[in-house]
Amino acid sequence: MTFPFEPTPEFAARLDEQDPLRFFRSQFHIPLAPDGQEAVYFCGNSLGLQPRAARAAVEQQFASWEERAVEGHFLGDDPWMHYHQTLTDVTAQLVGARPLEVVVMNNLTVNLHLLLLSFYRPTPTRYKVLMEGGAFPSDQYALESQVKLHGFRPDDAIVELVPRPGEHTLRTEDIEATIRELGDSLATIILGGVNYYTGQVFDMAAITRAGHAVGATVGFDLAHAAGNIELHLHDWDVDFACWCSYKYLNSGPGGTSGVFVHERFAHSPELPRLAGWWGHDPAERFQMKKGFRPMPGAAGWQLSNAQIFPLAIHRAALAIVAEAGGMPALRRKSELLTGYLEFLLRRLNLPASRLEIITPTDPAQRGCQLSLLVHEGGRALFEHLAAAGVIADWREPNVIRLAPVPLYNSFRDVQRAGAVLAAWAEV
Ligand SMILES: *Cc1c(COP(=O)(O)O)cnc(C)c1O
Repeated sequence: MTFPFEPTPEFAARLDEQDPLRFFRSQFHIPLAPDGQEAVYFCGNSLGLQPRAARAAVEQQFASWEERAVEGHFLGDDPWMHYHQTLTDVTAQLVGARPLEVVVMNNLTVNLHLLLLSFYRPTPTRYKVLMEGGAFPSDQYALESQVKLHGFRPDDAIVELVPRPGEHTLRTEDIEATIRELGDSLATIILGGVNYYTGQVFDMAAITRAGHAVGATVGFDLAHAAGNIELHLHDWDVDFACWCSYKYLNSGPGGTSGVFVHERFAHSPELPRLAGWWGHDPAERFQMKKGFRPMPGAAGWQLSNAQIFPLAIHRAALAIVAEAGGMPALRRKSELLTGYLEFLLRRLNLPASRLEIITPTDPAQRGCQLSLLVHEGGRALFEHLAAAGVIADWREPNVIRLAPVPLYNSFRDVQRAGAVLAAWAEV
């Protein structure tokens, strides 16, 4: 970042004054630091802050349940029967999809399994899965169990991508080369859109192209991408994707999850899947007839009637993203915010033997998060940050993740964190 940043509170305050998104911070509850000041909350990659509108959104559903009971399915402003559909357009917008291609339901790992059951269809010769080495544990367990479900051995069927010696992130050309090498044996690619550990953004278009060229299906776990970077899932031709709503989408602990299935599968009722009544043709849903007939598009993967309370929070949280101007506006601020944090870290002038930023330097290859590899005393630094009111995230064995989030973090937040890090670096 060549922008002439300065480390002072005055400079940070000036950036805040010029920030077109500065008023959105007040739409969130900011936790307090030990000294009673607002904390510097850099943990939105783990759990986004609570939108002030969330409580009222839930209260509204409590009221409907209280007043209408079962009739709430059909009466009121947003009858529960169709409630999930009120999230479709804004969700499609968020991930660069057509409305037919998305649905909000369940939780992330559940959805990953549902999608893999449809899109990981191994044969005796084409059964390999390509994923990131050190993927998020839930994804590792999901793939391990899927592979076993089909009678294969994980150590044979799962191929893991690892960085070159001395490097921390994957090169697109190396991912493409591995895909070409696996060729006819490769059934499915499943990667994070943004790696949860390093914060690296993968070139989803290039990876999808390479996967399709060898006849594999290609899916992404967008847990760290949704609400963090711009996505164009339809145009990138991605086959399937899913994400959670409680990280960058601020929709509460254990919140609901989003699913993308590309339009070209929208009218393929023969595609194998697990079925439930909510995915059935709504015209016949209550006729309780034999024979599952899936709805077109991603909606045809629904199983159960919608979880109204998590959806109500999610809807309120997504409305804030839309009001802020969507991902392009968030990204503009995000690049500057994270660029400022990177500037403050580089200014510490620490040798790589003490602290390394393992997240790519190129803003196009990262989201808001910077991951710091702290070779010695990482845990102590993490605790030093916490005591000073900087809420970061610790990943074993020695990584601290800092995620300044454009919706609610300020440049002053970044400056404060920088000052705490500078004090630590001096001792
Ligand atoms: C956060 C996260 C999960 C969590 O899965 P849940 O089913 O929501 O508990 C899974 N995978 C990745 C990559 C994540 O970042």
